[in-house]
Order: sequence, then structure tokens, then C-alpha cells
Amino acid sequence: MNQIVFEILNWYRNNLRKLPWRTTNDPYKIWLSEIILQQTQIIQGLNYYEKFIENFSSVNALAKADEDTILKLWQGLGYYSRARNLHKAAKIVNELHQGQFPTRYDDILKLPGIGEYTAAAIASFAYELPYPTLDGNVFRFIARLYNIDLPIDQSKNRKIFIDLLNEMMIGQKPSTFNNAMMEMGAMVCKPQNPLCNICPVRIYCEGYKNNTIAKLPVKSNKVKVSKRHLNFFLIEYKNGFYLEQREGKGIWQNLFQLPLIETKTDVKREHLEPLLAKLLNTDKTHNIEFQQSVRHLLTHQIIEAKFWKVKTNKKPTFINPKTVYTNLSDYKIFAVPKLIENYLLLL
Ligand code: SF4
Repeated sequence: MNQIVFEILNWYRNNLRKLPWRTTNDPYKIWLSEIILQQTQIIQGLNYYEKFIENFSSVNALAKADEDTILKLWQGLGYYSRARNLHKAAKIVNELHQGQFPTRYDDILKLPGIGEYTAAAIASFAYELPYPTLDGNVFRFIARLYNIDLPIDQSKNRKIFIDLLNEMMIGQKPSTFNNAMMEMGAMVCKPQNPLCNICPVRIYCEGYKNNTIAKLPVKSNKVKVSKRHLNFFLIEYKNGFYLEQREGKGIWQNLFQLPLIETKTDVKREHLEPLLAKLLNTDKTHNIEFQQSVRHLLTHQIIEAKFWKVKTNKKPTFINPKTVYTNLSDYKIFAVPKLIENYLLLL
């Protein structure tokens, strides 16, 4: 095992990508980068990271920001509960920890939106605490290296991987070890077509010897995916249109969208007319013009979206009180889901 770790660290020293969050031990910056990178690739993530640091230079500044500003900066990354949790956690750090990021793993883990992986990343990169960062890349790398065919999505098996990593980490600098393992998984032991020909631990790799690489890692559960039918309405009145703020839990919480009618199945215009009248709090029916349909994929949902246009000469009164009147130049101050943004950009 020592020789394996030696080869991995040696490879890392010669191949590491220089990224801003690798050259800091500021827990706030590390936390921010980790949450952003759970949503996107490094190149795109860099822009978001820089934007956040520019706007909120400290956890204190983030805690004091209003949620709409944070959601607006987060726009395009999806999974908005992560942005809301960033805000909640920043407030807790401010209130319970006097603005200082907690230094104990268990306290970090208690913050909203921080799971075992992120807590380990902050603990090891900021404070050199020996907690292994077991992300998807490391799971895959370890499963292949040691030919482990236990499902990685079962928590009892997670412990087996963690124990193995803890053993490998003994005597190493935690931040370097964790970065090296994650970098190996991301850059060499890739999901498809791993670069075994340049892999520094190929001669030790049990998956390679047993020709099981393509089957590893093993997953037991397939994610359940549901389908939803969302009808969005561009309701034009004078030179503008309306956006409504979403309420309740679920996708796109608190974001703005075009007024929506959700149906159980795909429906025709005639079916929507009375529903739209209800939405607009009127008996009058409107001429609805079909614009486009879009399929939008989220982690657990397939969104079948349809966009419709309605022109009205009378100022509508909406059932939803959180409806705002805007226009094509001003709507950008509101945080909207990517799906809505893509549609509005075409107008
Ligand atoms: S030899 Fe191939 S499968 Fe094994 S660890 Fe290296 S890259 Fe991964």
C-alpha cells in the first residue's frame, strides 16, 4: 500500500492543476468552491467561484446578503437548495461561531448543505485534519484499484472505502493526499476510457489485472425519475409581461418563472383556456398561442415544458400575489431557472 500511495503522490506533484481553491487554506473559500463544484465542471465553476468571492469576500458578507442576490449569482448552476443552504450556513457561522468557520469536523458537518464529503474537504484542506474526501471520483478509483464490487450507494459499504482510505492516508499530509486521490480519479481513472496506459499504479491495479474495470464501480439503486408537464405563459400586457415567484419546497424554490399551469398529462390548448382564466382570476377566455416545447432534465425529474403566449389589453389580476410586471430589458434582475432564461433569451 505504501508504494501505491507513493506513486499516486508522485504523479500528483507532477500533474496537479493549479486552481485558486488549492492555494488557500481559508475554509470559507474552500467551502464555496466545493459547493459550486458539486454543480458544475471546473472551468465553469471558476467563473462562479470568482463572482461569489468578488461579491462576498467573507462568510460574514455572505451571511448579510439577501437571498435573491445569492440566487441571482447562482443562476445557471441549478439545484438552488445548495445556494439557499450556503446562505443558511453562513448565517449560522456568524451567529453561533462568531463569524469564524468551525474548526472541528463534527461542527462543520452540522452546517446545512454540508455532508461527509464536504466536511472532510474543509477539514483537510483548511486544517489538515485526517478525513478522507470520498467523492464519486475517489469511489471509482478505489473500486477499480482494489477490485471492490460492493455497491457504492449503500452506506455500510461507504465505511469500507473510508477505512481503506484512512489506512492509505496514515503518515501523509491530508490535504495533499485527498487532492491527489481526487485528481487521479478525475484525470486518469476516468469513468469511460480510463487512461490505464499512463496510470502510475497500473501494475498494482486489481481491476486492471482482472479485467473488471468497465464493471466498476457497482451501483445498486437506480434513481427514480418522474415526469412533469409544465405549461408556462408569456402574458403580454402593453410593453411587458409577468413573472411569478415560486413558493413552497421543491424545484426552483423562490425563483421567478413565467406564470405556470402544471397538468398531469400533455394537454391541448382548449384544455388550458379555462385553467388560464382561473389563474388570471377572470371568466374571460384568452387566445393562447403555442410557442415551443422543451424537454428539461433534472436529477430526479423530466420536465416536459410548453411555452404559450397570450396578449391582453386589460391589466390581469393574478391569484399568486407574488407576481411582478417586467419587460425584456429588466427581467434579468430576477433569478429565473435556466429553462425560463433560455426561452426569454430567444424573444
Ligand atoms: S490502471 Fe486503469 S483502472 Fe486501474 S487505477 Fe489506473 S486508470 Fe484506474
